[in-house]
Amino acid sequence: MLNIGCHLSSSKGYEAMGKAAASIDATTFAFFTRNPRGGKAKAIDPEDVFAFHTFAADHGIQTIVAHAPYTMNLAAAKGETREFGLAALKDDLQRMEYTPGQLYNMHPGSHVKQGVDVGIQLIADALNEALFPAQTTTVLLETMAGKGTEIGRSFQEIRQIIDKVELSDKMGVCLDTCHIWDGGYDIVGGLDGVLQEFDQVIGLDRLKAVHLNDSLNPRGSHKDRHAVIGGGEIGFEALSAVTKHPALRDLPFILETPHDDLRGYGAEIARLKEAFL
Ligand code: FE
Ligand code: FE
Ligand code: ZN
Repeated sequence: MLNIGCHLSSSKGYEAMGKAAASIDATTFAFFTRNPRGGKAKAIDPEDVFAFHTFAADHGIQTIVAHAPYTMNLAAAKGETREFGLAALKDDLQRMEYTPGQLYNMHPGSHVKQGVDVGIQLIADALNEALFPAQTTTVLLETMAGKGTEIGRSFQEIRQIIDKVELSDKMGVCLDTCHIWDGGYDIVGGLDGVLQEFDQVIGLDRLKAVHLNDSLNPRGSHKDRHAVIGGGEIGFEALSAVTKHPALRDLPFILETPHDDLRGYGAEIARLKEAFL
């Protein structure tokens, strides 16, 4: 069965997210761990988490893919920005232990003209400070479109970060279809080749989740503008093929497509599930 869901609002807590997911036949979902601007995250309510776990078990929800705030930039030039990011990362990893064994996705960061090598070292330094041996969460580096000075625009850059992380068994990768398409990888004409390259450079065993998005722009554009599934340059057939690929089909798929309400996601999930059979 296709394990798919979408990004949900976390404002009403975990059980509410579980219910929202179940209402659109989703078995996984994503959410922001905190308001991107606000410093402190809302305190976790253990009763809400308990209710969520019961609900999730009853509704086949097994994987959740938390997303770090967009404002987190562990490769920033300003020490203050890096400190904010590191504090948020450390706090998020503590909070994630309320839902043990789940996934925490982050954008590697932007080097803001310090150069890729400096950026990669800063990201790895922060991860080495934040990760702890007892954590049960796997931290996923998201493949990026290469907009501006974003790091993670190639599989090689992701690999270089992981290589510098001491607790590398806590590290994984989230593949964003819009981002790698914008980064130049041809998932329409050569999905097998792209996945072979991923395997050679990073290793498919590191791949833990997929962000399933269409792209408004042609391959290699480095723009990062998401489109609804079938409403962009990648197209429905190629994205459905991503869900069905033997190397990917058992992973959690998260939609980050532009819809105004849950019904839009529900329709997208239904269509992808129908094509998956
Ligand atoms: Fe993301
Ligand atoms: Fe994404
Ligand atoms: Zn994006």
